[in-house]
Amino acid sequence: MTLHIETPLIKSRALSLKIGRTVLLKLEGLQPSGSFKLRGVGFACEEHKRRGALRFVAASGGNAGYAVAYAGRELGVPVTVVVPQTTSERAKALIRGEEAEVVVHGASFAESNAYALSILGDGDAYLHAFDDPLLWEGHATMIEEIARQTERPDLLVCSVGGGGLLAGVVEGLQRTGLGDIPVLAVETDGASSFHAALKAGAPVALPKIQSVATSLGANKVAARIVALAKEHPIRNCLVTDAEAIQGSVTLLEEHRLLTEPACGASVAALAHVPEYFPDAQRIVVIACGGVGTTSQQLLEWSDFYRLEREQVAVSHSDEVHSPESPQR
Ligand SMILES: *Cc1c(COP(=O)(O)O)cnc(C)c1O
Repeated sequence: MTLHIETPLIKSRALSLKIGRTVLLKLEGLQPSGSFKLRGVGFACEEHKRRGALRFVAASGGNAGYAVAYAGRELGVPVTVVVPQTTSERAKALIRGEEAEVVVHGASFAESNAYALSILGDGDAYLHAFDDPLLWEGHATMIEEIARQTERPDLLVCSVGGGGLLAGVVEGLQRTGLGDIPVLAVETDGASSFHAALKAGAPVALPKIQSVATSLGANKVAARIVALAKEHPIRNCLVTDAEAIQGSVTLLEEHRLLTEPACGASVAALAHVPEYFPDAQRIVVIACGGVGTTSQQLLEWSDFYRLEREQVAVSHSDEVHSPESPQR
């Protein structure tokens, strides 16, 4: 028994038609904690319990903290989750709903993380959100499932925050003898810490994260994925916030799935596949899920960007069709 479940891999007719290639979606949002995080976190928590951990401590107001809370309740181990002051009431309520203690400390993730480390006592196990080989080993199980569920894909698409998911995906590919299948690693423009790390040749701290895809907002990636980029075919792709939101809207409208823009980003990246991998015909997208976005929030964002597009369209049509319009 594992804490995570085996998730479906479905063919997306809508997305396949849209890009003219076969698109399959690995539905990680169906995990009981609403994201793929439970694979790695569940695996790590079970291991820590075996080693005698009496409490799990994590720093995350997002899907990682929620997954640790879920795992702790299931395993009968108390959990403390330290979250920054910016964390929404809804996120805190979700974590408390899993019977975990929520401690609000610090203005940023870095501050709450430092505090979480400072309160660790004997018998406490610390769960990182992305930079831990135990997590990667757990995340890799999704690739073992994919290898059983379908014939060989020729491209995997996944989102990158701190890089735990990417490290797990590559580990899974290597473990199943699929180590030559390339990965398109997707970020939003305002959370492009992997992009920066690839450019610098090592993880670098971004001065600021600014994206609706908050689950991609690790300001510095794990060194592991920079190393992996040298031994595995990985290409990095950036999408805009508007594209990421549209990706989530597509999952909602075509597949009745509510996801965060962190997940929509990978769907949006499909439009860019022909530039990066012109020959890829059979593509698996890790639909990583996420509990942080309500349907109302998603539709508000979507309306915002639709209005913005319409305004741009109107101003362009002024220029093109109304030569007598006043000079700007
Ligand atoms: C955590 C998370 C990511 C990013 O995963 P990393 O392991 O940090 O790269 C993407 N999407 C969702 C929904 C997440 O919860």
